Amino acid sequence: MKAAQIVEYGAPLELRQVPDPTPDSDGVVLEVLATGICRSDWHAWMGDWGWMGGQVALPRTLGHEIVGTVRAVGPEVRGVRGGDRVTTPFHLACGACGYCRSGQANVCDNMQVLGFWCDGGYAEYVHIANADFNCVPVPEELTPVAASAIGCRFMTAFHAVTGQGRVRPGEWVAVHGVGGVGLAAVQIACAAGASVVAVDIDAGKLALAKEQGAVHTIDASVEQDVPAAVQEVTGGGAHVSLDALGTGTTVVNSVRSLRKRGRHVQVGLTSAADAGEIALPMDLITIGELSIVGSHGNPHSRYPELLSLVASGRLTPQTLVQRTVSLDRAGEVLSAMSDFTTNGITVIDRF
Ligand SMILES: [Zn+2]
Ligand SMILES: [Zn+2]
Repeated sequence: MKAAQIVEYGAPLELRQVPDPTPDSDGVVLEVLATGICRSDWHAWMGDWGWMGGQVALPRTLGHEIVGTVRAVGPEVRGVRGGDRVTTPFHLACGACGYCRSGQANVCDNMQVLGFWCDGGYAEYVHIANADFNCVPVPEELTPVAASAIGCRFMTAFHAVTGQGRVRPGEWVAVHGVGGVGLAAVQIACAAGASVVAVDIDAGKLALAKEQGAVHTIDASVEQDVPAAVQEVTGGGAHVSLDALGTGTTVVNSVRSLRKRGRHVQVGLTSAADAGEIALPMDLITIGELSIVGSHGNPHSRYPELLSLVASGRLTPQTLVQRTVSLDRAGEVLSAMSDFTTNGITVIDRF
């Protein structure tokens, strides 16, 4: 089959012929229908995350936002059948550890991150381990392109806003960085009844955030003091502030955007420039009783709730997709992410 692989960090992806995957006893093989191109793919391509043991081994087929049709099924699989149309969380989980058993499979002790630690969906076929636990049926209402973002960016934003952020109706939510996951967070926070302030350095991304319901936008490329601007438009600070990017500037801006008792939710992982270490205004956190929480993916147990909101039209991941491309163009999209010129979500839909 064809697969687009990283063969060297930062070098163009190579479109190669590789052996078709075959199912493990508990796994399935999907014919890939759509794969989102996520900023995490860019991080993997850059060779990031060695500081937390997450640098990908090469060669590697990227792709963790997938929708596919089941084509081969391992003998121990019970709940997934040939022909089913499914997606998966990017964090493939074991279903058996303490976290999985308590509904928190997004922090599974035996996690396999699709497209990073095993080959993903920048290919004609992809293998999914532990299929009974990890495959999620895609509602009929959704096209593969619309559903692909659910596997990472959309469900990540859902957990960040409604889970870790506990956003309530009437609250102010600031979203720092409105690429794919940030834009999804704008939509989900609005649907949850919050008023949203979107912050970015790109006017095009801010225009998309407005379309998704943001009531204020702040252009950080011209605004000198982003936290002061958020404090002003929210009448004293955001109740919840979410950093979707993971730079020193966006993390600190997000924390400083909060009102007292506010909750900062960190969604973006850092790049080599910070290597996971960012200084925080700790006295402000103490005297304002601020909460700082991380958010990683979305527990498998919350997929039914998310998918029912999507199937009913309350949430619309398809409106975040700005562009579809063929597999051989994936490398160009990653390159464009180096200077932040991609808008919304780009999906591979031709293999
Ligand atoms: Zn587990
Ligand atoms: Zn992702």
